[in-house]
Amino acid sequence: MPVIVKGGTVVNSDQSFQADVYCEDGIIQAVGPDMDAPSGVEVFDAGGCYVMPGGIDPHTHMELPFKEKTVPEDFFSGTTAGVVGGTTMIIDFVIPGPEEDVLEKFHKCQSLAEKSCVDYSFHVAITWWNDSVHEAMGVLCRDHGVNSFNHFLAYKNSIMANDEVLVNSFTRARELGALCTVHAESGELVDYYQKKIFDSGITGPEGYPQSRPPQVEGEAANRAIRFAQTIDVPLYLVNNSCSHSMNEIARARREGQRVFGEVLTSHLILDDSVYLNPDFEFAAAHVTSPPFRPKANLEALWRGLQSGDIQTTASDHRYFSAEQKSIGKEDFRKIPEGTAGIEDRMNVLWTHGVNTGRLTANEFVAVTSANTAKIFNIYPRKGLVAEGSDADLSILDPQASQTISGKNHHQNVGFNVFEGMELKGVNVATVSNGNIVYKEGDIRTERDAGRYIDRPCFASYYSAIEKRSSATGPTSVDRS
Ligand SMILES: [Zn+2]
Repeated sequence: MPVIVKGGTVVNSDQSFQADVYCEDGIIQAVGPDMDAPSGVEVFDAGGCYVMPGGIDPHTHMELPFKEKTVPEDFFSGTTAGVVGGTTMIIDFVIPGPEEDVLEKFHKCQSLAEKSCVDYSFHVAITWWNDSVHEAMGVLCRDHGVNSFNHFLAYKNSIMANDEVLVNSFTRARELGALCTVHAESGELVDYYQKKIFDSGITGPEGYPQSRPPQVEGEAANRAIRFAQTIDVPLYLVNNSCSHSMNEIARARREGQRVFGEVLTSHLILDDSVYLNPDFEFAAAHVTSPPFRPKANLEALWRGLQSGDIQTTASDHRYFSAEQKSIGKEDFRKIPEGTAGIEDRMNVLWTHGVNTGRLTANEFVAVTSANTAKIFNIYPRKGLVAEGSDADLSILDPQASQTISGKNHHQNVGFNVFEGMELKGVNVATVSNGNIVYKEGDIRTERDAGRYIDRPCFASYYSAIEKRSSATGPTSVDRS
């Protein structure tokens, strides 16, 4: 059924204005004042509300395998929780293990994700290298709408991309016009310090942040940035948690390099004191990589968002149950890493970002949706409320309040890291693919309603990179 959102203030990343929004066939057909609402059209009264592009969460991990089972949160329950919080698209991760066939893993993940209720896409991790991986990257870009490849610099002896993999994969991405993304923590240093801390007798979750201090993130961020600079490929750093990595991004950007950064809402709010809690279950529930950091980093991350050095926000929604976490009761190194947050990302950011004056409403749209759409080359299809864009909307009532609680959230998750937080300004309705899928507590999401979204290669920043590299290419001297 067509939908008219009436009487709200449309908020895009560049401007805000009073307008109604008419959606039909999954597309925004018109944006303008005082539209008529003919019969057969569902009307949502958005008086006093902000009508914004639906959120894009560029970093989620639904339905992860764990010890031959999967985590409780699947693509349908996870995207439904996202819808309640105003998120209408996710970019999840395909993570083939070492030697695992990349295309096969991609197709496996794609079929799991079909149950999503909103649109979705995938970063594909490059964890090892041979000719078949080189070939698979080409097929993914050409035939499957993948334009970003992730590299874990952590997780030695598992999915870590070593320097040789980085050179090969970054070079291949450059040929294909794809974006390289990186999880920056030095696997070598983490491996060394995990053993050292554990052997010193610290076996509880407090050992976790001590074994991967901010310097290991700074080192890996700098290494990835210098590799990208040398190979001349654009780079996106996921889940920056501290000033160490952020300063590397800022420096690179000052030097004219195309480097983008993401921050998780949880890293903007929580600090490392959570690991000192005497209750194992509580402390272990916060074990995630990178870990929560000493408090001084939080304000630095906010300043990164404000200054534009960091462009996007994500949840890194990745949940393991208390039972699954308890496997590391005697050894913090075995605690599965992850925290949830897809449902709360936007509401928490509004309360702590917009209400505190750190971000304008337009900047909020930029860091929750528009910037992600631009960086991953799906703008203005996504990330904009305008005629012709996908009809994905988050409708936020700045006067509505709510207390976050694991008791009534919609994530299939037993622990909420934002438990007890008072929100002012809450997503009250969500439109996805032209349908009202959430309205003031009424959830109408449908399994399989989400579509796989192709993301073309050669985003606009590539033409700038190409112009600059043709001016600075290798030279030879003719001595004949
Ligand atoms: Zn992640």
